[in-house]
Amino acid sequence: MTAAAHVQVDLGLCASTGTCEMVAPDLFEITDDGDLVVLADPVPADQVDAARKAARACPTRALKVVDV
Ligand code: SF4
Repeated sequence: MTAAAHVQVDLGLCASTGTCEMVAPDLFEITDDGDLVVLADPVPADQVDAARKAARACPTRALKVVDV
């Protein structure tokens, strides 16, 4: 699968809201402890739009999607 982007997470900004997981459940998961886990980085090409949508939806601007 082609990798098209990287996700950068600023864990200092992440407030564990789970918004990114709701928008892109194949890319993000909040553990029971409230930690954010990126499930696919590099982001597969067919998931890049979802990654960007999640980054826009993040209330604390903790996510960045960077083109490879
Ligand atoms: S949407 Fe932002 S603040 Fe919420 S869990 Fe995801 S990265 Fe953290």
